[in-house]
Amino acid sequence: MVCPRCNSDVPEVSHFCHHCGNDVRSGDAERKKAYAARPDEPVASFRLVSTIMPQGSGRQPYTYKVALGIALLLTVVTAALGALPVAIMVAAFSIPIVYILYLYDVNLWEDEPIPVVAAAFVLTGVLAAVFTWLWSDKIQLSTSTFGGNDGSPAGRDLLLLLLLVPVVSELIRQVGPLILASRPRYDDLMDGFTFGVVAGVGYACFETLVLFWGWISGGFAGPGSSVGTWISVVVLHGFIKPLVYGSATGLAGAEFSGLGEGYDGFTPRWVAGLIQAMAVNALFQGGVYLLGFVGGHGSTIGSILGVVWGLLLLGALIIRVRTVLHKGLLEAALEAAARGGSNHASGDQAFCSRCEMPLLPHSDFCSACGNSVRSVPKSARGTAVPAAATGYDATTGETQA
Ligand SMILES: [Zn+2]
Ligand SMILES: [Zn+2]
Repeated sequence: MVCPRCNSDVPEVSHFCHHCGNDVRSGDAERKKAYAARPDEPVASFRLVSTIMPQGSGRQPYTYKVALGIALLLTVVTAALGALPVAIMVAAFSIPIVYILYLYDVNLWEDEPIPVVAAAFVLTGVLAAVFTWLWSDKIQLSTSTFGGNDGSPAGRDLLLLLLLVPVVSELIRQVGPLILASRPRYDDLMDGFTFGVVAGVGYACFETLVLFWGWISGGFAGPGSSVGTWISVVVLHGFIKPLVYGSATGLAGAEFSGLGEGYDGFTPRWVAGLIQAMAVNALFQGGVYLLGFVGGHGSTIGSILGVVWGLLLLGALIIRVRTVLHKGLLEAALEAAARGGSNHASGDQAFCSRCEMPLLPHSDFCSACGNSVRSVPKSARGTAVPAAATGYDATTGETQA
């Protein structure tokens, strides 16, 4: 049969067009029920792991979920017990560590010299620490952002949190992804997104360490607030903030990489992504600050509302990321189909890393399960023989004898 979207010849048995990813059976033209990077999930979903870790979610979804769950539990318990130095350290490092494990899992580095990648992110971390120290310690807010504040918001604080911090911090978060995404090895849409997430998560870690240095160095005595405030603060800064920063910066990174071969660079789309990320950041900072005044002095309500506000923003961002990546993967495949298909899946006998069915030559999508070949780590794309036959270990990319 002929695919109605890209006019390629598609075998009668196909469920999805292997060139453009079109669902040729159900007529769901936009594939709303089959997310390109995870076809068994709908596009509009709040599933975190398959959103921020799109390349590995098919293989080890539980590892990341369990690791994140344990870290969250540990943070809440230590904060509830008043062990704030431990709680804030666990909060600051949990998501960065899980994300590093993910990058190692999907073998993102592959042949690239690790020093280049490490240098890009050490730079992000140093800039994050210096800038956070400058605005929080040298310029200083007139009240804390932990909630339970007296009086009313100050205009100077709002200017700082709605303008200076979002704009400068987002520019800092763009440095690493732009350096890496402009290397030919990493010009893919998914790479740009992933590097953006890394930069956001890394920035959040250093920002948290600087902002809460007093908690870390102050021993086990708390800052005189309630347990509810402590738990809200560590959950907000350790788990919600890195994901908000990461997905917003990731969206801009994906626009920098663009759809086709090579990177698109500083296009209007990248500028729009950058402004969107700054706006998200301003909404996050400003919202948490303003909600901190609800309930008045010593109240826990303000900090809990800050967590709720962060979750709402994160939910909206997750949907946005999934929509952008989904459309991007489908659009890129349509463009490639017009040129006769791409070489993402190489070899005469490549197999889908998700369902292990054979891939047709020049596939951008698996014709059986509809998974995007580009959503799979590059090392696993050209899998020559299925796992069961040779002991090929998809998690390490190695073949055991
Ligand atoms: Zn097609
Ligand atoms: Zn498949």
